[in-house]
Amino acid sequence: MFTPGMFIPPHPARLWLMFSGRPTTIASKKITAAETAWMDDRPFDTYVFIYHFPHAPAGGGMEHAYSTAIDLSANELKDLRNFQSVSAHEFFHLWNVKRIRPQSLEPIDYSRENYTRALWFSEGVTTTAADLALLKAGLMKPEDYFKKLSAAITTLQSRPAHLTQSAEESSLDTWLDKYPTYRSPERSINYYNKGELLGVLLDLKIREDSHGRYSIRDLFQKLNRDYAKQRKFFNDSDDVRAVSESLTGSDLRNFFDHYVAGTQELPYNDLFATVGLNLSQENRTIADPGFRAARNFTPPPVIEEVYGDQARSAGLRVGDEILAVDGQQPARSLEQQFANSTPGRRVRLTVQSRGVRKDIELTLGEQSLTAYVLRESQQATAEQLAHRKAWLDSEDQIPSRPQ
Ligand SMILES: [Zn+2]
Repeated sequence: MFTPGMFIPPHPARLWLMFSGRPTTIASKKITAAETAWMDDRPFDTYVFIYHFPHAPAGGGMEHAYSTAIDLSANELKDLRNFQSVSAHEFFHLWNVKRIRPQSLEPIDYSRENYTRALWFSEGVTTTAADLALLKAGLMKPEDYFKKLSAAITTLQSRPAHLTQSAEESSLDTWLDKYPTYRSPERSINYYNKGELLGVLLDLKIREDSHGRYSIRDLFQKLNRDYAKQRKFFNDSDDVRAVSESLTGSDLRNFFDHYVAGTQELPYNDLFATVGLNLSQENRTIADPGFRAARNFTPPPVIEEVYGDQARSAGLRVGDEILAVDGQQPARSLEQQFANSTPGRRVRLTVQSRGVRKDIELTLGEQSLTAYVLRESQQATAEQLAHRKAWLDSEDQIPSRPQ
């Protein structure tokens, strides 16, 4: 038995949640139950979730071995999806990165940068596992999972740098993340984004090569047994490959060389076909604000590049902070917020520009985007449907999990 702890500081906004926060508590309990069952392990007596829900832009979590501190804007509690996904991600870190730990992060030396190629696995594949646990807990529906994966694929494919920067290089270069030029789509990809997709594809690859005997769940359980419990660190991607190969009995060098260390296009079609899913491309016209903004670790988003004539003539400048859009807090992803809007619409931006707060009227332009959409194949065979069910249930088709 265990009890997920909930520490809520005595602040009026947070006290409100303590009294009416039942849905969040129920979700946290389901997540902790699903993930400890998924790992067949509970290496703690008490685990504490520390949540801050400010009435201001916020977003992020920090993992610890026995707790997590999560910042989420109170606005995002209207539906619990972000709450659940950040909670599931941070909780899974108690294994992946805190206990199942890459050698390259050790020994910790706070006086210099630690260079590691493993963050695609330690961060990205943490999201893969967290999503599988949310599916298992009934907190995410398969159709919502397919939409989430479609959006992740669209994000990766829309960045030209997916053909020049590998997942490992993105991890190694994380020290450059705070530089706007580095964050441009032409220069870098994001190891959370590509790592999550690599985790999904590795899961399908392990399932295919082991003929349904093993999955990524077995990979994590084996890493936990053979490394974490033995107090050993794993040798980054090489050991992820070696342990995966010990399950599949196949040679996975091509997978790791081409997709993890290399920049070849990911084998979406081949591997999603094994579970009866098709990936198609659709051309869409979406609204374009004419500028690019990003958060520097904390909100508000800051304009990094102004490329549109209308944005320029409206007076937007690099370095402006976006405080509000039409009087509302900007969304977690400003890019997504504008993409969901309509070309030609007028928006009112409240910005802080060189010490002056002002409102700016902007007419949204348009841009075309290739969107990737993952759909259930109407021609899926009974075998593919059985594979899909096992995948979404995180189960092996042939029971084989070692005792
Ligand atoms: Zn993380």
